[in-house]
Amino acid sequence: MTTVSSTTIGYPYIGENREWKRTVEQFWNQQLSESQFEKELKNQRIANLLKQQDKGIEQITVGDFTYYDRMLDLAFMFRLIPERYHTLESEPSLKTYYAMARGSDTTIACEMTKWFNTNYHYIVPEYEQQKLSLGHNYLLDLFNEAKSVLSTTPKPTFIGPYSFIQLTKGYCEKTVASFILQLLPLYEQVIQQLVDAGAEWIQLEEPMFTQELDEEQLQLIDVIYQQLADHVPGANLMISTYFEAIPQYERIVQLPVAGIGLDFVHGYKDNLQAIKQYSFPGNKVLAAGIINGRDIWVSPLKEVTQKVEAILQLVSPKALWLQPSCNLQHSPVTTAAEKALPTVLYNALAFADEKLDELRHITYYIRNQSFETPSIIKENLMVIEKLATDVSRNNSTVAQEIKQLNKKDFNRSQLFEERIITQKNRLHLPDFPTTTIGSFPQSEKIKKIRSQWRKKEISTELYETQLRAETNRWIKIQEDLDLDVLVHGEFERTDMVEYFGEKLAGFAFTKKAWVVSYGSRCVKPPIIYGDIEWLEPMTVKETIDAQEQTDRLVKGMLTGPVTILNWSFVRDDIERSKVAIQIALALKKEILALEESGIQIIQVDEPALREGLPLRQSLQQDYLDWSINAFKLATAAVQPSTQIHTHMCYCEFNDFIEPIVALDADVISLETSRSHGELIHSLQHTPYPYGIGLGVYDIHSPRVPSVEEMYTILEDSLNIIPKERFWINPDCGLKTRREKETVDALKNMVSAAKQLRSQI
Ligand code: GLN
Ligand code: ZN
Repeated sequence: MTTVSSTTIGYPYIGENREWKRTVEQFWNQQLSESQFEKELKNQRIANLLKQQDKGIEQITVGDFTYYDRMLDLAFMFRLIPERYHTLESEPSLKTYYAMARGSDTTIACEMTKWFNTNYHYIVPEYEQQKLSLGHNYLLDLFNEAKSVLSTTPKPTFIGPYSFIQLTKGYCEKTVASFILQLLPLYEQVIQQLVDAGAEWIQLEEPMFTQELDEEQLQLIDVIYQQLADHVPGANLMISTYFEAIPQYERIVQLPVAGIGLDFVHGYKDNLQAIKQYSFPGNKVLAAGIINGRDIWVSPLKEVTQKVEAILQLVSPKALWLQPSCNLQHSPVTTAAEKALPTVLYNALAFADEKLDELRHITYYIRNQSFETPSIIKENLMVIEKLATDVSRNNSTVAQEIKQLNKKDFNRSQLFEERIITQKNRLHLPDFPTTTIGSFPQSEKIKKIRSQWRKKEISTELYETQLRAETNRWIKIQEDLDLDVLVHGEFERTDMVEYFGEKLAGFAFTKKAWVVSYGSRCVKPPIIYGDIEWLEPMTVKETIDAQEQTDRLVKGMLTGPVTILNWSFVRDDIERSKVAIQIALALKKEILALEESGIQIIQVDEPALREGLPLRQSLQQDYLDWSINAFKLATAAVQPSTQIHTHMCYCEFNDFIEPIVALDADVISLETSRSHGELIHSLQHTPYPYGIGLGVYDIHSPRVPSVEEMYTILEDSLNIIPKERFWINPDCGLKTRREKETVDALKNMVSAAKQLRSQI
């Protein structure tokens, strides 16, 4: 009989009330001394550990806590610090650490990019052939601290060497070997020190193993793990994988380590198939991710226990660990504060803490063949059933409308080449038209008004008057700047998904369901729990009011269906593609309402289209098919003379040109100012046939770029983008900037455009 126990890959560090965020930000703002800061974080860590212990988790993980980001923690410990930070101080301390994370007065921050297919962003370490060495072993501190408060031995976790190397940038074929040769001994030292301190298990997270690995990569992995096995023979290493199945299962499972962790939620079918085909080594521990670590829903306990039993039918590992499918940091902390939600919804929610309860129940069941009490399973079945049959999930109007959709609804009535002629004749735009991405700076005053209105401290009338005044002011500013296509400024929106969610049926909003997006920045995604339906115009009033202030064109601004989907927690009883179609249908009605009120340009932002791309190549086409279809459903119904724009940002566009072509949007604006050269390069390979505006300056920085600087960028792009389709814009929305820098930068941008017009 295989022994079974419960553990986690990691638990959220932010705290029930985002205590972590507050502490870190107070430290940045010098409201806490370093020792107060350390003390506060320690209290939070210990509270998190004890909470997990109280929940009955048998093996508790440490190293899931960070001061900013866990990739950065390792880079910093290995002294993988780019040279530009060396001038900050002689011995790297928190000052350097946070400068790498956020930049300082004199140094720019390290790059930040998406953590696999999540909405978390990690800090990308940079290898510049610096000499690496082991700084302070923080993992050892965390281990010792946890050991002193817990009744079982904690399990340290950190990113494994292969994934760490792959996620680091800056090396090339010539330098990679020296990077690895320097890095591995440091991993060995960290592991050895942990073993010496009494760590029985050490978890190395290797999410990169979910990628399709070629022979060369597999050989590198063999070498890495063989070296660890040879040099730290006393360590029990658990390789943890998550977010997907591991395509090269048969190779990975043979690595000389003591245990392998697999995701049996997202990669269930493939991982199960693999263990069926290749079995699982009887001398290794299997850590099975069986509860979805990234969603918010109650698990169907019966099904999960059946899953575990099915796995145990196939293999008899040395021991079986049951765990959530990934670090629980991708789920909010607890549902405790959400009692104001509709009861059917509230009862069907499980955030990190509730998932730990589920894990305890399942572990108990697998050991005893029954639940602790019969009510556990009864209640579980009931809450799931209640939500499934709730009226919100069974909207027959929406179902009927979707049933009637046909091919025509997904395609514009004219091809781009034809409709662009009508659009040009109607819109009368100059060559190189200038525009912005939608939002303008949200002043303290605007934020205050919005929050007062939300708290019902001021009347809707006063609120709307104030917003309108701000829009009018910005219409005037845009006219003075001589921009060609204006926007109303999005002052009514705190967030580009929440705003729409609040006006559509099928969404719910939580009080505290925060998850970290990057650093101390948290997001609170809405919950899509019912069928989505358009109830009334959401943006028409604001857009029309703005249009009435000016003779220039004002474009309508919407968030696209795929972004609304990808930035929400989504119901799991129907496929995501179906939810996307419901959102698209609702947006289509909004777009038609805008068109009907005379708006001639409508922008449908899809910054999150790329991030939803599945990790497995074999699943990517299907995702692209339905997500592009959703966008097309939302936008295709307009007249040929109405111009559809879209905008994308925060992502790598190389290899993504084809999908954006498939959207059939008349104009796209892209965030490219940081990777301009690369994009130009890929546009050479895959030309983009529609209108395109490459962001000419980085809105994430307060710096005001000069006319010459922008002119050069524009001139460079002229080789690739013909004059007739060339738009000029900043690279993203301006809501986080200050007014002065916004106006100054746009002034220079318009000057650069004019210079281009006069010379080309
Ligand atoms: N229209 C949005 C804005 O300007 C787009 C935001 C985004 O791309 N993330 O704020
Ligand atoms: Zn953007």
